[in-house]
Amino acid sequence: MTTKANGDSLAKLREILGACLVLDEEQLSSASFDGLKIEGRSDAVIKPVVPEQVGEVLRVASEFSTPVTTRGAGSSLTGGATPIRGGWVLDLSGLDTIDLDSENMLVRCGPGAIVADLQKKASDMGLFYPPDPSSKKFCTIGGNIACNAGGLRCVKYGVTRDYVLSLSGYLASGDFVTWGRATRKFATGYNLRDLWIGSEGTLGVVTEATLRLIPHPPEQRTFIAACPSEKMALTAPVSLMNMGLQPSVIEFLDQWTVDCLQKYTGKEIFPGLGANPVLLIELDGDGASLEADSVILENWLEDVSLQSSVAKTKSEAEEFWEVRRQGSSSMKKLADTKLNEDVVVPLDKQVELVEFVSSLREQSKLKIGVFGHCGDGNLHVNFMYNESDTEETNRAVCALRELMKKVVDLGGAISGEHGVGLAKTPFVRMQFNEAEWNAMQSIKKALDPKGILNPGKIFDVFKPWEQKKILAPLSWERSEEDKS
Ligand SMILES: Cc1cc2nc3c(=O)[nH]c(=O)nc-3n(C[C@H](O)[C@H](O)[C@H](O)COP(=O)(O)OP(=O)(O)OC[C@H]3O[C@@H](n4cnc5c(N)ncnc54)[C@H](O)[C@@H]3O)c2cc1C
Repeated sequence: MTTKANGDSLAKLREILGACLVLDEEQLSSASFDGLKIEGRSDAVIKPVVPEQVGEVLRVASEFSTPVTTRGAGSSLTGGATPIRGGWVLDLSGLDTIDLDSENMLVRCGPGAIVADLQKKASDMGLFYPPDPSSKKFCTIGGNIACNAGGLRCVKYGVTRDYVLSLSGYLASGDFVTWGRATRKFATGYNLRDLWIGSEGTLGVVTEATLRLIPHPPEQRTFIAACPSEKMALTAPVSLMNMGLQPSVIEFLDQWTVDCLQKYTGKEIFPGLGANPVLLIELDGDGASLEADSVILENWLEDVSLQSSVAKTKSEAEEFWEVRRQGSSSMKKLADTKLNEDVVVPLDKQVELVEFVSSLREQSKLKIGVFGHCGDGNLHVNFMYNESDTEETNRAVCALRELMKKVVDLGGAISGEHGVGLAKTPFVRMQFNEAEWNAMQSIKKALDPKGILNPGKIFDVFKPWEQKKILAPLSWERSEEDKS
């Protein structure tokens, strides 16, 4: 839609940005949706080559009250990067510098730096950046900070937030700010660094991050086990902790998911055993301690599993991880829509949650599978349904609502790592009382008085199941298998 204000603001942008302003239809279209596959629309895609251009863009946006949706790789599974209210997409994938400071064990990077590239650079210097979302080969540090991304290793190493020392970037007004310092401690004034982390691009735009690194663990050992029941498998995090073990990964696949993936691959994980809940556990450390921990874990697995195996080579470990990845790919084949709900509950409530999902599956007659990071209570509940079938879609929406209520009742949160975006807006209110909700809205108003930063996210109810369309694959989908 080209209104006068729109035309004026674009003319001003063109003056400032030149070739960084992209208006061709193909690029507008590929920036109009993310991993949730709900289509928004934008009048321009802006691809800054230096951080200062972000400030200039926001100054113009603020003057004309133009919505700005910041984008990294567009791998959000919640519609977080979708320009649902039009305006401009600020694509920061080009700001991808990575400067390692090994003496201070930190890295300064642009928001467009790809997580796996950063990890590789750190690891070449014997250093380690632990947050490892399954999308790490294509997602960006900016997106990870905005969603407080997690991943497999959080059980031992924590989430993105635990590694951010300082953030620089721009307020909605276009003013430059730095929150935090490149120091190990910080207790000066309000901690707006942590407020920005997880705020999904609604409070400011990150243009540089300083991240903490740690020494790289020398070795890893990977185990896979089939358990007689979900209850038995889900005791892992608490039991292992009580024995003094701190695995770097504890992943779980429920029996339904294992059945689904075995049918999909035509192979049994443990030949002759049938479909049973599966645990994948990784230990890391140096030789002697890794050896001692492995003995404790193997003894425990002997008691709680039907069968278990330890990877003897890197490629065998990779085969174990492939099982985890196939959980998601196999489910995708079952229907045209798969919603991946990344709920999180206290560790001792996981059994109750998985039992609840089993009863939900039966009552709703839907295909629902659970896998995920049981080491930190962050289980991914996947709903498969066909959008063309209105009755089935309605059942899925009701089941989704029931799940969210249960998670909140169990003292959990409706998102552990993906954020609210658009997808969770129908449920997010369940988690906050009036005072909490109002306080969040006041913060949004204080930092973004004109509401130009990623509007439509978190606060406004959007019903994704009413809008979804089948869209072309995104660039990362074209080059990668779904590993979520
Ligand atoms: C196959 C697959 C596997 C996945 N596995 C995981 C997983 O294991 N763990 C996990 O946590 N997530 C996972 N995700 C979800 C997704 O990859 C993460 O949410 C990731 O953090 C998004 O990064 P991105 O660069 O793609 O950001 P985008 O999708 O482009 O944006 C995500 C959000 O961040 C905001 N944003 C982006 N950059 C900035 C910036 N510089 N400043 C301010 N706001 C910004 C956007 O506005 C948006 O709200 C997975 C996704 C896929 C497709």
